Amino acid sequence: MHEYSIVGALIAQCEQHALENRAYSIARVVIKIGVMSGVEPELLKTAFETFKLDGICKNAELEMQIQPLVIHCSDCDTRTQLEERNLICPECKSFNTRLTEGEEMLLMQLELETE
Ligand SMILES: [Zn+2]
Repeated sequence: MHEYSIVGALIAQCEQHALENRAYSIARVVIKIGVMSGVEPELLKTAFETFKLDGICKNAELEMQIQPLVIHCSDCDTRTQLEERNLICPECKSFNTRLTEGEEMLLMQLELETE
């Protein structure tokens, strides 16, 4: 499943941060999930709960923030936040737009426990 490989990479990233900061445990993991990232938040959470058990994220709580779609229109220079996939500028109806946010999944914050 897609989400399992994502979680594997996410946990590896957390472990790396913990190592660099000499943390013995991670209390909280905050991630941002773009609505267009193709990641299913519920599946991701389940995968995280399963995966975390044998690592430094064992006691970590996963917090997910959903990032809506944001497009930028090159014709009228407007940034618009959208609820669903739509690449037509609502201001001037131009197709000359670019997706600027909502496609990625990012690790935003970690709460580490150090000695
Ligand atoms: Zn426009």
